Amino acid sequence: MRNVLVIGASTGYGLASRIAAAWGFGARTLGIFFERPADGVKTASAGFYNTAAFHEFARRDGLFAACMNLDAFSDAAKAQAAEIIRKEMAPIDLVVYSLASPRRVHPRTGQVFNSTLKPVGKPFTNKTIDLDVGKVMPVTLEPASEQEVTETVAVMGGEDWEMWIDALLAEGLLAPGARTIAYSYIGPEVTWPIYRDGTIGQAKKDVDATAQRLNTKLKTKLDGSAYVSVNKAVVTQASSAIPVVPLYLSLLPPALKARGLDEGTIEQMRRLFFDFLGEGAKISTDEAGRIRMDDREMRMDVQTDITRVWPQVTTENLRQITAYEDFQREFRSLFGFELEGVDYDAPVETDVQL
Ligand code: NAD
Repeated sequence: MRNVLVIGASTGYGLASRIAAAWGFGARTLGIFFERPADGVKTASAGFYNTAAFHEFARRDGLFAACMNLDAFSDAAKAQAAEIIRKEMAPIDLVVYSLASPRRVHPRTGQVFNSTLKPVGKPFTNKTIDLDVGKVMPVTLEPASEQEVTETVAVMGGEDWEMWIDALLAEGLLAPGARTIAYSYIGPEVTWPIYRDGTIGQAKKDVDATAQRLNTKLKTKLDGSAYVSVNKAVVTQASSAIPVVPLYLSLLPPALKARGLDEGTIEQMRRLFFDFLGEGAKISTDEAGRIRMDDREMRMDVQTDITRVWPQVTTENLRQITAYEDFQREFRSLFGFELEGVDYDAPVETDVQL
């Protein structure tokens, strides 16, 4: 794994993949993301600073790292990436597709699509945590319209992933044996109406179908392959926005920790890269051809713990019987708050360049 392209590289699973490729395998990486730089008194977005830190450490350790801060859905992003790869890298061995976006402007039609997080077919009622006030509330989500399903598939489905691979193939920028991987989630039944069977789940089905097409294409042209990895639920900006999921993310870590099985994004991606993607590693998949990094999350004993506590959770006992405070801390840490070893009173340069 010498040259790796990561699309969606500044936070969450994409950043963790980039770190695993660079420091686990010494890979040269090109990271693509869409972050806001600092503007006067306004700080940059968290992923911007994550990337600045990535580049600082990569430079220190002699690792080649290039990045592009622009809309990955655009044709311009594909053209610019091709130029960087041609001039400064070498053909790519691995393309990681880890975008999570609320919106996509279609590069060919200019049409704007918005993704939604809704059930499909019928309303869904369960409980969730209102993150603004820390209260457990019932939530009823009305089913998505056909248009909303179509738009979510257009944003979070596989079309753009395929456009990236087609563009790189057309430019001859994929190495023999090149692989590509995109990330998905399945989760337990309690989340199915809003995830697996919901609008986002329809998009993920499209990603599965795209993986099969890309696998055939890459196999034929380069003896390469394409995979979907089903990852575990972790606290990221994308996952915390899904109703019901914050409550689930307050119950899952204690169930995993009690068994010594908990993993964050870095531990998950380290295991994915070493056990599945590294040289000589044998890729084992489920019957649908997917890599299952959620094997620990989905263990029956882990899920039984969660289903036992779930009905008992109320606003009053939220902090006692769940790890909600850890969830909150982890969420804030995504934005740099409450990190150990940081002197928050010390002045700091916020206008950082990449
Ligand atoms: P995230 O929000 O942490 O990261 C999303 C990344 O996409 C960021 O780097 C962001 O800059 C980039 N991005 C968004 N719009 C962009 C655009 N238009 N152009 C360029 N870059 C853009 O998300 P995440 O939770 O790490 O999700 C990544 C993937 O992993 C998704 O496919 C998600 O479904 C999947 N996944 C997430 C979880 C979870 O619990 N978080 C679990 C399983 C699978």
